[in-house]
Amino acid sequence: MKEVTHLKRESAEVVIVGGGPAGIAAAIATGRQGVRVVLVERYGFVGGMSTAAMVYPWMTFHTEQGEQVIRGIAQEIVDRLQARGGSPGHLRDTVGFVHSVTPYDPAVYQVVATEMLKEAGVRLLLHSFVDSVATVDDRVEAVRVTNKSGQLEIQANVFVDASGDADVAYLAGAAIAKGREKDSQSQPMTMKFRMRGVDLGRVKQYMQEHPEDFYEKTPFGELDTIPLTGVSGFYSHWKKAAVPIQRDQVLFFTGPAGDEVLINCTRVQGLDATNAVDLTEAEQEGRKQVLMIAEFLRNNVPGFERASISAVAPQIGIRESRRIVGRYALTREDVVAGRKFEDVVARSGYPIDIHDPSGQGVTAAFIEGDGAYDIPYRSLLSQNISNLLAAGRCISTTHEAHATTRLTPSCMATGEAAGTAAAMSVKLKLPPANLPVSLLQAELRQNGVAI
Ligand SMILES: Cc1cc2nc3c(=O)[nH]c(=O)nc-3n(C[C@H](O)[C@H](O)[C@H](O)COP(=O)(O)OP(=O)(O)OC[C@H]3O[C@@H](n4cnc5c(N)ncnc54)[C@H](O)[C@@H]3O)c2cc1C
Repeated sequence: MKEVTHLKRESAEVVIVGGGPAGIAAAIATGRQGVRVVLVERYGFVGGMSTAAMVYPWMTFHTEQGEQVIRGIAQEIVDRLQARGGSPGHLRDTVGFVHSVTPYDPAVYQVVATEMLKEAGVRLLLHSFVDSVATVDDRVEAVRVTNKSGQLEIQANVFVDASGDADVAYLAGAAIAKGREKDSQSQPMTMKFRMRGVDLGRVKQYMQEHPEDFYEKTPFGELDTIPLTGVSGFYSHWKKAAVPIQRDQVLFFTGPAGDEVLINCTRVQGLDATNAVDLTEAEQEGRKQVLMIAEFLRNNVPGFERASISAVAPQIGIRESRRIVGRYALTREDVVAGRKFEDVVARSGYPIDIHDPSGQGVTAAFIEGDGAYDIPYRSLLSQNISNLLAAGRCISTTHEAHATTRLTPSCMATGEAAGTAAAMSVKLKLPPANLPVSLLQAELRQNGVAI
């Protein structure tokens, strides 16, 4: 039997794996430094969870007190979206969990992101799955990609793992962690969906008449003067209907269209998002729950009487899977104390927000001090692979700290930091760990990053 393989080879200076929010920001940052960069994405579009799993809205660019702590490329993306009518910008969060949320139109985001990648000189390779990694000693030499053209090996000096699941680190045999420390269980997966035909005026009216049925931090005093961006509650309706899903509340966000909402209510627990058999089960269970929740909303919740499903996410949303073990793992204590680090490369004001891996609820912990914590450069550096940086969901944290660094704006911020660091390493001919952090910080500040 003759086996035919079509292995091609190419090289770059930096390879970034994963075209989600972190990988997009990382690739733009690297490309703008004039470094040859390839961004590899398994789907036919970029955006990661924001597009493939319909995660919406982005939260948050601000601290609870209202200081904007995420800027740089993340803010440029919002500005470009606003200019194209693809986002209203940062709006007050009417759930009351954070200061601001940032709604956006995913179709416009995909176009804006690819335009920005192109302008930065990034070579974007879609429909390409990284399935193996070549290593020599403590270095990644190349990633191998399978796509319609066959197999492609891409060599580079520095690699950024923005795959969400730390695929590059895992395939390279780097130290990785998964889920909670005691049993490796991860936050649940959620199949997101949209409904149209929702009477949001009626929803708001019911909220004002029954404040006790909603999240305690809902800003009722402001509801008449600000647009309704999100709703968390309808506790009594949910309890009475006893839908067999491990949740304790209804949660949805409004937009992008005026009669549209994005529903975040399904919950698939106890499955591993890095196991294909588990993922297969999760996809099916998630879609079943979508139908159950849509029916519950139509039959029980004021304002949803005439609503219908307008879109279901192409893939189930994965909150947590693998992450790297880096040179420093950010902890719950660091987040809650609003800790500052000498080697800060990104900041975030999003609280800890853990959807229970096995129970019904959500555990939150808010940030003290000035309302923001620092993310140190060491959390982006693999402990044992010398030319590998992580960005976004797979940076080095504990399970609890991951429950804040995983949010999209924070992922964009660590993406920009990782991409800038990768480019500077190439230009200065230094391994990422030996890059003088003060130079990296100066470059990030120069580019508008709020550190
Ligand atoms: C249910 C749910 C609700 C959420 N709610 C919010 C919210 O309301 N607001 C908010 O801001 N954030 C929210 N988040 C968090 C946020 O969506 C993600 O954590 C964030 O998108 C992570 O960004 P990332 O770029 O690190 O990873 P991802 O978005 O996961 O992107 C990773 C990319 O890598 C690609 N990829 C993976 N493996 C490979 C491979 N081997 N080869 C090639 N490509 C690969 C993927 O296709 C994907 O495009 C939520 C997440 C979920 C799941």
